[in-house]
Amino acid sequence: MPDPTPTDSARLACPACGNRPAHARPANRRRRYELWWECAACPWVGVRSADGGPLRTMRRLRDGWADCMFCGEEEANVVGEPFERDGERLDWLVCLACGRGNTRRLGPAQG
Ligand SMILES: [Zn+2]
Ligand SMILES: [Zn+2]
Repeated sequence: MPDPTPTDSARLACPACGNRPAHARPANRRRRYELWWECAACPWVGVRSADGGPLRTMRRLRDGWADCMFCGEEEANVVGEPFERDGERLDWLVCLACGRGNTRRLGPAQG
């Protein structure tokens, strides 16, 4: 089994287009336990925890939720994969500009 190395991040390629390495956004004090990646060649955005773990793809929003409700930055919000908890379908919404975020109710759980 290959050892994960501290330079693992330097080899990260964009999983969406594979062309150019994604680069880390400047550290945000509110989210210093996460590493954020943004592709220079396509709209892909991803995050993983600073101590390792899987890279999670985030989706940019273009609808009424795109603008940050905290800082007002336009089209700054991204969401993760929907998940279900306590009978509700939720996703995780984060502002790339200010780093604030919360879970968002999408409706009742399916199935
Ligand atoms: Zn890309
Ligand atoms: Zn914001």
